[in-house]
Amino acid sequence: MRLDVVSIFPDYLAPLDLSLIGKARRDGLLDLKVHDLRDFTHDRHRTVDDSPYGGGAGMVMKPEPWSEALASVAADVDARPTLIVPGPGGTPFTQAMARDLAKQDHLVFACGRYEGIDERVYEAAAEAYDVRIVSLGDYVLNGGEVAVLAIVEAVARLLPGVIGNADSLVEESHEDGLLEYPVYTKPPVWDGRAVPDVLLSGDHGKIAAWRHQQRLERTAARRPDLLHASGSVAVGDLTDGS
Ligand code: SAM
Repeated sequence: MRLDVVSIFPDYLAPLDLSLIGKARRDGLLDLKVHDLRDFTHDRHRTVDDSPYGGGAGMVMKPEPWSEALASVAADVDARPTLIVPGPGGTPFTQAMARDLAKQDHLVFACGRYEGIDERVYEAAAEAYDVRIVSLGDYVLNGGEVAVLAIVEAVARLLPGVIGNADSLVEESHEDGLLEYPVYTKPPVWDGRAVPDVLLSGDHGKIAAWRHQQRLERTAARRPDLLHASGSVAVGDLTDGS
């Protein structure tokens, strides 16, 4: 998969050199490039922002550098890349969206700063890109870089070969609308707290049933909205702890 990130703070994306994503880049599974938006300016101060028309606080990112940057990134491609513009007013990012994005060949990320990017950039970009505005959640960050780190990590780990054991993806939270069950490792008793007996029983059927019940209870307690959204949970599942 090819990924291009455009930002005025390229160093913010340095963590994408670490851990499994960094390894995937070195292994050639991810072709990830970070571009400095200021390289697409032509004035002495490398200006990327200006005051908003209509007044108001803050600055707005100018259209010209974005237009040049996005044209440059898409210059050598035949298919329409997907352009992801992080923004608090976008579609909430979910595991389902991560799965969908993981099927694309080329993702481009435009990191906004200040009060955001001049609206005309979105309209112009739609001629060459499939444009998606994506929100990390209902809160406001200073810039799109943190959102890009989260989105790239969630998408890249779904690509074949990025996670060593692909089985670990199957039962994770949000894969089927439920949260994951609690997990434990050695020692069997720590700080006076024992691992649940069933996990030491060796009875795979009982362990699977216990884990399913834990998933239901945990989801009901922490994210009841998910249970209602999936609509697949029988009321009895939550009361029958066997
Ligand atoms: N004035 C904008 C508004 O109220 O919608 C917020 C601008 S914010 C200070 C600057 C940049 O941070 C945005 O352009 C976007 O790139 C990023 N950002 C802020 N919150 C975000 C969120 N919840 N999800 C994704 N990106 C976000």
